[in-house]
Amino acid sequence: MGGSVKMVEETLKLAYGENSDLIKDKRIAAVQALSGTGACRLFADFQKRFSPDSQIYIPVPTWSNHHNIWRDAHVPQRTFHYYHPETKGLDFASLMDDIKNAPNGSFFLLHACAHNPTGVDPTEEQWKEISYQMKVKGHFAFFDMAYQGFASGDPERDAKSIRIFLEDGHLIGCAQSYAKNMGLYGQRIGCLSVVCEDEKQAVAVKSQLQQLARPMYSNPPVHGALIVSTILVSRKIHDLEYYSAIIGSLFSQGMADRIIGMRTTLRENLEKLGSPLSWEHITKQIGMFCYSGMTPEQVDRLTNEFHIYMTRNGRISMAGVTTGNVGYLANAIHEVTK
Ligand code: PMP
Repeated sequence: MGGSVKMVEETLKLAYGENSDLIKDKRIAAVQALSGTGACRLFADFQKRFSPDSQIYIPVPTWSNHHNIWRDAHVPQRTFHYYHPETKGLDFASLMDDIKNAPNGSFFLLHACAHNPTGVDPTEEQWKEISYQMKVKGHFAFFDMAYQGFASGDPERDAKSIRIFLEDGHLIGCAQSYAKNMGLYGQRIGCLSVVCEDEKQAVAVKSQLQQLARPMYSNPPVHGALIVSTILVSRKIHDLEYYSAIIGSLFSQGMADRIIGMRTTLRENLEKLGSPLSWEHITKQIGMFCYSGMTPEQVDRLTNEFHIYMTRNGRISMAGVTTGNVGYLANAIHEVTK
């Protein structure tokens, strides 16, 4: 039920660090999960079973499936402030207030990097303050990390939020996914981990996670897990250019750079067209999505008049923007936002 031991072992090193003491001390309960979604759902079910009266605090906005996942696990949801529509950045003051005002020992869902849908991440300093305050309140942080390596191109850098929490001695939960960074969406390969007080507790927690998995899907798929573990292990054994080339693209340096480049080009194009609006947020945000600030009506015009498709909250998938269509996109955005 726990899936590939090797894959899980290598996956934990990515999130917690190659030389993590938590791994050495066997303090992390972890199982292979059905990609990031499955990891979140397994955790939500675990939360319901072992903390039946608890709630989950979810950022506004968030990936819409978070609401469905915790709803179907029958965990009541609360929200916390995250995005500021006017600055198109983080509403840090309100976020901190919400952390302070939540009952001690609350569960908080945090996006480890490349927040979906906003592309707005806290700075390192802000993560430190969030971690500190959550420690003071005894909150439990559950990190959803669907884009490690996809935000900055560097998996270590993208795990910074988690590392800050670990330095502060938090016991965290973490959902990892290989859908984006390894392009394995269809394989449903991921991992759920929970940091425990000690090895004994980790054994118990892992056993309970497996109990939850058994009647739900029995065991996770093996093929994609072999792809992941083969590559992650190979990169250490073979110092070959071939492997570094694969790893480079796996952890999306090229993809991350391409998206960051497209952000700059889109912004420059809009500015060249003489748009009076500020498009600074396009380059400030990070990851696969740009939360453009366009209204549902403006998005409808893009769809109907220009055949450009995005979610009605104005979220552009930057992965779909290319050198070939960025000019057309900028023109269309300018037309509907004039
Ligand atoms: N969490 C977030 C924030 C996401 O954006 C996604 C992908 N859309 C997921 C989890 C789930 O990804 P998957 O199940 O494909 O790994």
